[in-house]
Amino acid sequence: MKLLIMGPPGAGKGTQAEKIIADYQIPHISTGDMFRQAFKEETSLGKKAKDYVDQGLLVPDEVTNGIVRERLLKDDCQNGFLLDGFPRTVAQAVTLDEILFDLNTRIDAVINIVVDPSILVGRLTGRRICKNCGATYHLTFNPPKTLGVCNECNGELYQRKDDNTETVENRLAVYNNQTKPLLDYYSAKGNLYSINGEQDIDEVFVEIKKILGGID
Ligand code: ADP
Ligand code: AMP
Repeated sequence: MKLLIMGPPGAGKGTQAEKIIADYQIPHISTGDMFRQAFKEETSLGKKAKDYVDQGLLVPDEVTNGIVRERLLKDDCQNGFLLDGFPRTVAQAVTLDEILFDLNTRIDAVINIVVDPSILVGRLTGRRICKNCGATYHLTFNPPKTLGVCNECNGELYQRKDDNTETVENRLAVYNNQTKPLLDYYSAKGNLYSINGEQDIDEVFVEIKKILGGID
């Protein structure tokens, strides 16, 4: 299964991605996670991307396209993958099509999680992530059993530097201007499935499974 998961920041892409990859045993390719890992390791990619990510701006296409191409060529992507946070511009979508053409494959489904913009800021500022395993929580909507501690691995929870109100506003504007137009791009291809992301986390997943079950 080769999938894209789309939606504005805070829609629940990462949360649903964790569930989808566990069910379908495919790699989760999140460009945001790749950048954050690069910051941690202080690589040259990390240095190139940091200022953009911290300000809530998009990392330039030539940098982002390069890391995705390299990742999709790896063996573990042969039988499927879930791309999360890529593509975010029409130019990235065109590059993805070129990569898929070179690999003689195609995307089976684009899952678009729809959430009213008014609830996204609260979702993002209340998000907490496990430093150790990357599991995602929310202070109100999906709290850990013990405050600050991951249910899965007892790791410490932290707040992303770009999940503050000001940077979140920038990220939402960037989504509206640069990423939202991509929905027309995939709608025209006929494999875009939009889902109500304002339901409970488990209910959203049930809907995703219904869609994926239909195209399996
Ligand atoms: P994205 O990857 O799209 O930016 P996340 O999956 O990280 O979004 O979710 C953003 C925040 O919203 C997280 O704190 C997560 O726990 C919470 N969240 C995700 N899905 C839901 C939902 N259906 N209802 C309420 N909160 C949710
Ligand atoms: P995310 O983890 O998806 O919320 O992404 C965090 C940040 O990483 C974004 O605000 C961007 O700065 C950067 N980023 C992630 N994916 C992309 C992409 N496809 N193109 C450009 N920048 C990206």
